[in-house]
Amino acid sequence: MTRRQPALILHGGAGASVPAAQRPLRQQGLERAFAAAWAILQHGGTALDAVVGATVAMENDPEFNAGVGSCLNQDGEVEMDASLMEGTTYRAGAVGAVRHLRNPILVARALMEEGRHVFLVGDGAERFARARGFLPVSREELVTERQLRRWHATRTAGEPGTVGAVALDRAGRVAAATSTGGIFNKHPGRIGDSAVIGAGTYADDTLGAGSATGDGEAIIRATLTRTAVDYLRDGRDPTRAAQAALTLLHRRTHGEAGIVLLDALGRVGYAYNTPAMSLAFLSGDTLVVQV
Ligand code: ASP
Repeated sequence: MTRRQPALILHGGAGASVPAAQRPLRQQGLERAFAAAWAILQHGGTALDAVVGATVAMENDPEFNAGVGSCLNQDGEVEMDASLMEGTTYRAGAVGAVRHLRNPILVARALMEEGRHVFLVGDGAERFARARGFLPVSREELVTERQLRRWHATRTAGEPGTVGAVALDRAGRVAAATSTGGIFNKHPGRIGDSAVIGAGTYADDTLGAGSATGDGEAIIRATLTRTAVDYLRDGRDPTRAAQAALTLLHRRTHGEAGIVLLDALGRVGYAYNTPAMSLAFLSGDTLVVQV
């Protein structure tokens, strides 16, 4: 087994600029999530554990649109989507339109580990979670003051906040995870790219892994993360691959999105065609956090 330098890149969503008042807390949230996942990788943990660790940290942080702090649909309800994938044997797990789970990514992981199904939605996903010992949470525990105000006041699309993580571990395995409350004011029952393997999340040890955020419908149609990972063939730099995938997305669908990507060598890259994207990654030994 060749030992590799681990690599990690996180995102906290792409979309409109984050209001100045929210930036410090969001920055701290990304730093905390990065530190948690980086410690896992440094101690020889798997890429899968690292992306789950980062995603759980951001799901628990009310600053992000995932888990606690999820945005509301047009009925004023929370409906969350999440997925994860590992790049060695293509195991994957996903949940869609779940309402009473504190950490949808952990349930997606449990589904993946069980290996029978890849994707469960709604009540079925919640029954699966309960049977595996995940305690249900009430709507009140997930809805923050800020999301409630936003729903009552504006009913317009707003700041970004989907979360995602992509990692390479010392054993050369890659993994990706994505979790979201979806898009603001969405139709009940709508499931976006974050729960769809190949759209919001994709991983392949021979090429790399990616996590996307932005217009979910466009991302699904363009199978954005699978496309971007494919563009890593022939050693293309991850930033160039991410840009090429977004160019295709925009040309064909006019969609706006962002993507983080890393390749099998551990080079990280990202691109977005929205006004802003929240990111955390290492440049040399320096942690770069942008909100
Ligand atoms: N891609 C997510 C969705 O469509 C939303 C986002 O990333 O902002 O559900």
